[in-house]
Amino acid sequence: MIVAALGGALDPSRVRTAVPMAPLTTFRIGGPADALYDATSGADLANAITAARSAGIPWTLVGLGANVLVGDRGIRGLVIRNATGQVSTPGPNRLHADSGVVVADLIRSASDRGWSGLEHYVGIPSTVGGALWQNLHFLSPAPERERTMFIAEVVESVELLLPDGTAKTVGGDEMAFGYDTSRLHGSGEVALGASFHLGSADVGALQRVMQENLGWRGARHPWLEWHPSAGSIFRKIDGVGAGRLIDQCGLKGFRIGGAQISHLHANIIVNCGRATASDVRAVISHAQEAVERRFGHRLVPEIGFLGEF
Ligand SMILES: Cc1cc2nc3c(=O)[nH]c(=O)nc-3n(C[C@H](O)[C@H](O)[C@H](O)COP(=O)(O)OP(=O)(O)OC[C@H]3O[C@@H](n4cnc5c(N)ncnc54)[C@H](O)[C@@H]3O)c2cc1C
Repeated sequence: MIVAALGGALDPSRVRTAVPMAPLTTFRIGGPADALYDATSGADLANAITAARSAGIPWTLVGLGANVLVGDRGIRGLVIRNATGQVSTPGPNRLHADSGVVVADLIRSASDRGWSGLEHYVGIPSTVGGALWQNLHFLSPAPERERTMFIAEVVESVELLLPDGTAKTVGGDEMAFGYDTSRLHGSGEVALGASFHLGSADVGALQRVMQENLGWRGARHPWLEWHPSAGSIFRKIDGVGAGRLIDQCGLKGFRIGGAQISHLHANIIVNCGRATASDVRAVISHAQEAVERRFGHRLVPEIGFLGEF
C-alpha cells in the first residue's frame, strides 16, 4: 500500500515492507516497520522525505538507531534509514560529511590527518545526523576529565532540509545546541550534511586520547556486542547523573523480563537476550518511581521512543 501511495517517487524495488526494526537498533528491540527505505545520498534522502510528505505517509528517520527504543508493535509508515556516506576535505582542518556518515569513520578521516576535535567521541555509535540531533558529548581527555566536550564545538555549518522541502545552510551557532538537544528537536528539519572545523594535533597524541577513552568506556559501560543497549536512558538532574540516583536506590541488576539495569552503569538498561520494548518501559517506570520516592525528582528519558508500544 505504501509503495503504491508513493506513486513511483521512490524506486519500488528499494522499498522493503514489514522489515523488523530490532536489528537496526543497538537495543536489538522493536517490531516491524511498515516499509523501509535506505537513502544513499543527500539528494536521495531529501527526495525520500519529500516523497513521503507529498504522499501523506508518516515517515521516521533513523541513523544507527543508537538512541531510540522502538515499540513492540513496530513503526507505521515509512522508515528512512540514513545510509548516506560521503566525506570530503574542502580545505585544511575542514571535513564535510553527509549526515549518514558514521562518526567512527569521520574520526578516522580526521585523526589520520592530525586534525583534532572529534577524537573524544570514539566508541560512541552514531551517525553525523544523530550526533547533531543530540549534540554528541563526552568527557574531556584523561587525566582531568573535568568538563563535558560537545560536538557543537567543531560544527561549522549544517545543511538542513526544511519542512517546506527547501534546503538551507545554517552556521553551527544557529543550531541551538544544548545538553542532549539541538534545533532539530521538534522543528521538522532534517540534517543533510555538516561541515566541521577542526584543530591540529600530533597523530600520536590523538591515538593516545582515543585509546584512553576506549579503555575508560570499556571499564564502565556494558559491552554492546554482549549487552545491547541505547546508552544512557535518563537525562541528568541539576547536573547530577541519573545513574548515581538509580544506584543509590539499589537498582543495579534490577530486571523485568529481558531488560535489566546494568550492573556496571545504573543509567544503562541492557537487553539480556529477549527483552521487549514493554520490558524496557517497565524498568524505566520502576526506576522513575523509585528515584521520585527517595529524592523527589522525576527522571526524564533522553532516548527517543519510536512507533507503537
Ligand atoms: C553503548 C552506547 C553508548 C553511548 N554513549 C554516548 C555518549 O557517550 N555520549 C552521547 O552523547 N551519546 C551516547 N550514546 C547515545 C547515541 O550514541 C547518540 O545519541 C547518537 O548520536 C545516536 O546516533 P544515531 O545515528 O544512532 O541516531 P538514531 O538513534 O538513529 O536517531 C536518534 C534521533 O535523531 C534523529 N536523527 C537522526 N539523524 C537525523 C538527521 N540527519 N536529521 C535530523 N534528525 C536525525 C532521529 O530521527 C531520532 O529522533 C550512546 C549509545 C550507546 C548505544
